[in-house]
Amino acid sequence: MSDILKKYGEVIGFHAMDSLLAIAERLEGKKIVHINSTKEGGGVAEILSSMVPLSQELGLDVAWEVIEGDEPFFNCTKTLHNSLQGMAGGLSESQAGAYMETNRKNAERLKDVLESADYVFIHDPQPAALLGLFPKRKGKWIWRCHIDVSSPNRSVWRFVKKQVEGYDASIFSLPDFAQNLPHPQYLITPSIDPLSEKNRPLTKNEVLKTYEELGIGRDKPVILQVSRFDRFKDPLGVIESYRLARDHVDIRLVLAGGGATDDPESGEVLSAVKEAAAGDPDISILLLPADAHRTINALQAGADVVMQKSTKEGFGLTVTEAMWKKKPVVGGDVGGIRLQVINRFNGFRVRSPEGAAIRIRYLLTHRWKRERMGVNARQYVLENFLITGQLRNYLSLLVSLDGNEGEWEPWI
Ligand code: UDP
Repeated sequence: MSDILKKYGEVIGFHAMDSLLAIAERLEGKKIVHINSTKEGGGVAEILSSMVPLSQELGLDVAWEVIEGDEPFFNCTKTLHNSLQGMAGGLSESQAGAYMETNRKNAERLKDVLESADYVFIHDPQPAALLGLFPKRKGKWIWRCHIDVSSPNRSVWRFVKKQVEGYDASIFSLPDFAQNLPHPQYLITPSIDPLSEKNRPLTKNEVLKTYEELGIGRDKPVILQVSRFDRFKDPLGVIESYRLARDHVDIRLVLAGGGATDDPESGEVLSAVKEAAAGDPDISILLLPADAHRTINALQAGADVVMQKSTKEGFGLTVTEAMWKKKPVVGGDVGGIRLQVINRFNGFRVRSPEGAAIRIRYLLTHRWKRERMGVNARQYVLENFLITGQLRNYLSLLVSLDGNEGEWEPWI
């Protein structure tokens, strides 16, 4: 076992590591390809940047390719994303045209790698139309949906369904998201990497130094939300919650985020956030570069309460990251957060700024409870949401798609 795998073993236990190696062995010589729409920014890129090296460390032949698109394409896919998460509206003909054209161009560019792959994971709707452009494909293709499609806009879902129904399988993060599709659907939750720069343990000094460098005083408790500036993350609701809580406890609010290359709307949302926070010296809005993993790590480790007040959420990696650092999270009662935050056990789920304010106040005035819930949060992540477990589930799925050929040993 390599040194890196040993380090994972120290976190998850060597028995779990052995089972991961045993499953990986069954995929020896097979070529696996992941395709998504951005190398950085957002949860999918975050997961792939850990999962691909870990898979390679296990001896697997894995590649990660990113589709290239222009502004009309990413405007279209943002509309797709918003409508699949329930926003009104639909795709115009020209948007649908830009979508298909970009997928066509990428199919040409990625022809060799996709034609020779044994397994292809297509992440989210952006590259989903690639499948239809490989009628003679040899491999199995899996559509991995990361977004909250519990109540999609029907016309947009019909468009996406046409792109994804030909896949061999699809994966969703929780049962609420499953759809009427003519192939097997698997439920696999996303995960975090305990060894990454974002999640490795930091010393108290490193944490305090980061706060100091960012000019965030530690004289008052800090409430933190880390998120892309996206409407569904509800940053304005976070500011409202903070204002309501501040009537009772003196606190600071930190909103940390950045853009993703496939998200054209972040500028607009950020302007609205800046306007809502204007004139309040206790609110810090941090625009971080895409590689600010250590800074985010320190912010999460040093926060007193972490929020993720999303109104739609496929699965909030930020929630899991904070829980791993023993923070009880005050999260929106939606989507994947329902799977992560067990109300009152490792955090609180809320439905309004008023609800969030009450929970923030409770956590800040009940230190023992806060610490207890933080310990529960970390253990819950250890048991359920680490990258090794997610990879094991992916690999088991691939093995099962092959019908376990060659594994039949009649004498046993
Ligand atoms: N993230 C980051 N910088 C930012 C904002 C977010 O590195 O400015 C990271 C965050 O730590 C998490 C991921 O991006 O790992 C966001 O994943 P999540 O599932 O919470 O939300 P998504 O953006 O995928 O909707």
